[in-house]
Amino acid sequence: MPYPNALEKLIDQLGNFPGVGRRTAERLAFHVLRMPENFARELAGALVEARAKTVRCRHCYNITDQNPCRICSDPARNASQICVVEQPRDVDAIERAGCYRGVYHVLMGAWNPAEGTDREHLTMDALAARVRKGNITEIIVATDPDLEGDATALAVHEALRDITIRVSRLAKGLPSGTGIEYLNRAILADAFEGRRDL
Ligand SMILES: [Zn+2]
Repeated sequence: MPYPNALEKLIDQLGNFPGVGRRTAERLAFHVLRMPENFARELAGALVEARAKTVRCRHCYNITDQNPCRICSDPARNASQICVVEQPRDVDAIERAGCYRGVYHVLMGAWNPAEGTDREHLTMDALAARVRKGNITEIIVATDPDLEGDATALAVHEALRDITIRVSRLAKGLPSGTGIEYLNRAILADAFEGRRDL
């Protein structure tokens, strides 16, 4: 027997999340039905509010509730040093490690030439424009230590090739295939310390 329409609709929506297949979407949907009514109301409210009250920072593209974001508008940060990351989650990991005092640029993804992803959806051109404005002395590429991260680092380097500026990448020897967001404080601090010119 098919599920009631309202339930089917919920399963469909939950299935839109990355990594969530039909089975998982069903499990989540039934969980919502089992919980007190308040749970569904608060969940729906949180979804709408998170979407409505956050924007991308006009400088670094990080997710923020003020524009420019708190990091970009903090006078204590070194605005001449930009750390380039794939996702807002990476900014969060590096901030928690507390080993970096510059600012960021969030690419909003990685470049995967094998999958035919084109570079256009990344914020690479915005990064180049930002660097061209001047006052930037170093770009530290902190893309993930995997194939896509490598390709993305090269693409960043390429996008900045006509600008005289130091472009470095976090030290090799990070556990490969992992993501920046999963690295612990000590490993991240070492990787920043041991960064190498591209
Ligand atoms: Zn910002």
